[in-house]
Amino acid sequence: MDKIKVVVTGATGKMGLEALNTVIDADDLELVGAIDVKHAGMDVGYLVGVKPIGVQVNEDLATVLKEEKPDVMVDFTNPQAVLKNIKTALEHKVSPVVGTTGLTDSELEEIQQESKTNNTSVFIAPNFTIGAVLMMRFAKEAAKYMPHVEVIEQHHDEKLDAPSGTALKTIEMISEEREALRQGNINEYEKIPGCRGGEHQGMRVHSVRLPGLVAHQEVIFGGQGQTLTIRHDSISRDSFRPGIALGIRKVKSLKGVVIGLENLI
Ligand code: NAP
Repeated sequence: MDKIKVVVTGATGKMGLEALNTVIDADDLELVGAIDVKHAGMDVGYLVGVKPIGVQVNEDLATVLKEEKPDVMVDFTNPQAVLKNIKTALEHKVSPVVGTTGLTDSELEEIQQESKTNNTSVFIAPNFTIGAVLMMRFAKEAAKYMPHVEVIEQHHDEKLDAPSGTALKTIEMISEEREALRQGNINEYEKIPGCRGGEHQGMRVHSVRLPGLVAHQEVIFGGQGQTLTIRHDSISRDSFRPGIALGIRKVKSLKGVVIGLENLI
């Protein structure tokens, strides 16, 4: 069987390196390109701590797509770069597997449109870990019975967007299950602006950013005389690798734009 040819964008970043390792370690995947605005010309092997593999970091996505004709582009860049990369990939009929978070609703609509125009599928996952997918599923279930809920997400302090894509997806899934609800004391006030967190349909979301953290989230439900806490921790970034590999293997068989790892497992 032919190997799936993969290009990684944001290749020298924290998650890009995980994507590179995922592809290099898999027998059925072939790394044909690595794109980043840093380290241009460096052999990818040096980046991931193995011997040179003959793929150099390149700054120009379009040229690599044209020359290497990959099947899939894995993107872990930033909210400012990701839309352009996705559109460039789709123009070349390359299916994006997107881990970058922070895409807006109007950007997602644009991606739907481009996917249709180019008849090329897209997979987007706010979180590639199975544990986080289960956390969201369990939280949605719990909200049926315990509608008072707050989310605390914690990430490393280089993260650009807040709240995290996982927190947004969690509160969206909970919103499918419960009516909007005014939580907390009706007369409550903030002595430090923002200390009650962001608000969505009555739910509060709190974003913690500290060095030393990877990606963590607690969904805390409160009821009469009791609380329920559902917590997930990515304690190292290799937790994302199996989900990235699954996305790469499945994206070509999808229709249109599919969002969420739960749709692949
Ligand atoms: P990071 O370490 O900052 O890596 C991003 C890399 O992309 C950097 O090397 C950056 O270079 C580079 N870059 C910026 N613009 C680019 C462009 N136009 N083309 C190619 N490369 C470009 O960030 P990270 O921690 O890996 O996170 C990346 C994204 O993944 C974030 O949106 C994060 O929220 C998300 N994420 C998703 C998951 C998931 O499971 N879905 C898990 C963790 C993180 P500069 O540093 O020079 O800008």
